[in-house]
Amino acid sequence: MRIFYDKGVRVQDGGKDVVLDPTRRLPDSVVSHGHLDHLSLGALMTVETMDIMRVRLGREEGLGVRYGEEVEVNGLTVSLFDAGHVFGSAMIRVEDVLYTGDFNPHGGPTCGTCEPRDCRYLILESTYGKPSLSFPPKEDVLSDLLNWLEVSLESGPVVLGAYEFGKAQELMAVANKLDYPVLVDDRIADLADVYNRHGHHLKYSRYREALEEKSGPYVLILPTRKLRRPGSPELREALENGGKSAFASGWCSIYDLSKSHLLDAQFPLSDHADFWDLLWFVDECNPKVVYTCHGYAQELARKITSRLRKRAEPLAKGWF
Ligand SMILES: [Zn+2]
Repeated sequence: MRIFYDKGVRVQDGGKDVVLDPTRRLPDSVVSHGHLDHLSLGALMTVETMDIMRVRLGREEGLGVRYGEEVEVNGLTVSLFDAGHVFGSAMIRVEDVLYTGDFNPHGGPTCGTCEPRDCRYLILESTYGKPSLSFPPKEDVLSDLLNWLEVSLESGPVVLGAYEFGKAQELMAVANKLDYPVLVDDRIADLADVYNRHGHHLKYSRYREALEEKSGPYVLILPTRKLRRPGSPELREALENGGKSAFASGWCSIYDLSKSHLLDAQFPLSDHADFWDLLWFVDECNPKVVYTCHGYAQELARKITSRLRKRAEPLAKGWF
């Protein structure tokens, strides 16, 4: 078995190989989830990610499968398991290799959770792969956010900024716990429509169609770029009516984005494993070899070797 990076994560067994999360459309490829740095046409993916693809890329090309279903790709047995990262996200198993893609053992209100799995080779995402990158417990962050929303909505609208796919819908699920209208821009609504077609119950209105909903306090969820000052017309209208604004991202645990973006609050809400989750996950999967990729790959590999006494190295690039 050879595992390396060449236009994607390549798993090669004899003359057979598959490419995971290819950088562009490639034959015999598998996509882990619908974030644009992972998504490409023509691959195997979950049926949920196929539907997200139709909204994000305007086309639906590939093969959608259910979690746990075994499929043969170029002679190798492939199956997908919930990665707990976003709606439809999957870890990819190819024979005895497990590729986590972006993953989160804690899951979230709009996706499942990610269970460790026995494997011989583990390819591990390293986005938050150093000890200083750790998050408070997710349930604490969600409860802080809910409390802040409840208090802030007593005096006017609240605008939340987040990545348009995944985080935005997670915020919608949190805001839906309160008895206020939840308004979103069209892009976020198009993606949320897919969630609801798959059994979620997100309640929201499109901002441009909302009139009555804006007569009192409301929660408005916008893509991050619309919070950068001077801000979008939707943000300005909310602020002129005494509104508050906040941002939710894992990077808020490190950077104070509230100052640079002139926000009232920020919440370290992450859809990734933090450093301690990564170590725990490796220990539970108990692989013979760990290949780290994305983010702090070198640093994480060193820590896995020193703390878990396990062979770990950054994923090699190109042919060797
Ligand atoms: Zn992602």
